[in-house]
Amino acid sequence: MKLICPVCRKALKQNGREAVCENGHHFDYAKSGYLNLLMKQSKVHGDDAAMVKARTGFLNSGAYAFLKEHLTALSREFRPQVIADLGCGEGYYTAALEAEEKYGFDMSKDALKHAAKHDRSTAYCVASIFHLPMPDSSCDFVLTCFAPAACVEIERILKPGGVFVFVTPGKKHLFELKELLYETPYENKVTPLNMALPLIRTDEIRQPFDCSGEDLMNLFMMTPYAWRTAESGKEKLRRTLQMRILAEFVVRVYQKPF
Ligand SMILES: [Zn+2]
Repeated sequence: MKLICPVCRKALKQNGREAVCENGHHFDYAKSGYLNLLMKQSKVHGDDAAMVKARTGFLNSGAYAFLKEHLTALSREFRPQVIADLGCGEGYYTAALEAEEKYGFDMSKDALKHAAKHDRSTAYCVASIFHLPMPDSSCDFVLTCFAPAACVEIERILKPGGVFVFVTPGKKHLFELKELLYETPYENKVTPLNMALPLIRTDEIRQPFDCSGEDLMNLFMMTPYAWRTAESGKEKLRRTLQMRILAEFVVRVYQKPF
C-alpha cells in the first residue's frame, strides 16, 4: 500500500478494519471498503447520494463508454505500475484502467461507497485531491476527469517519466442540450492548464448519443446547468422525448521529465 498518514506523512499499513501509521494514527475502513483519510469532519462535501445516483444511472447508459475505452487504452499504452485517479467519483473510469496498483480519491462518501462495492481492483479513499495521502514520486499515471487539476500535488506524486491525463469537456460537449435550455447557448472554453509539466499530447474525441426519459434527466442533473436553468428550460426538457447529443472530450497528457 502506497498511502501515507495525512497527519504525520509516515507510511500507512492495513490492520484489519483500520489503516495505521507507526505513530499510532489510525483511520477506518467503511463497511463498503473505502478508507476515510480525512482528519476531521470536513466542511467540504462531495457529491451527495442523489447526484451519485443520477450520474451512475447516466453512465450505465453507455453514452460515455467511448471515453472510458480511450482512457483504458492510454493506461495500457503507458503500462503504469501505480495509478491515482483524483476526483474519481463512483469509479466508472478508475475501474477500467489497467495497472498493478490503483488508488481513487474523492471527497464524496456516497460516490466512494458505490465505487468500493463495484470495483475491488482499486483502493478508494476519502481525501482532498489538494492534500493527497501519497508519497512523493510514487505514481506513474495520474488521471483527473471533470475535476479541477491539483497541479502542485500532481507534480509531487508523479515519478520521473510519469504522466498526468487531464480530461475536460470539448467546445461542443452537450451543445444540443444547451440549445434546448438557453436562449443564447455558448461553447465551452478549453483553457490551457497552468502547469509546469510539458504537454506531450492532446486527443480530441467525440461521439453522439441518443438520450431519452430518465437518462436525459440524469444527464441534466449531473451538469452545471441544473442549478442555473430557468423553469421554462426545465419544462422544455421534461417534454422532450428523445435527443441526439454530442459528447466531446479533450484528453491532455502531460509528462514529468525523466
Ligand atoms: Zn501518522
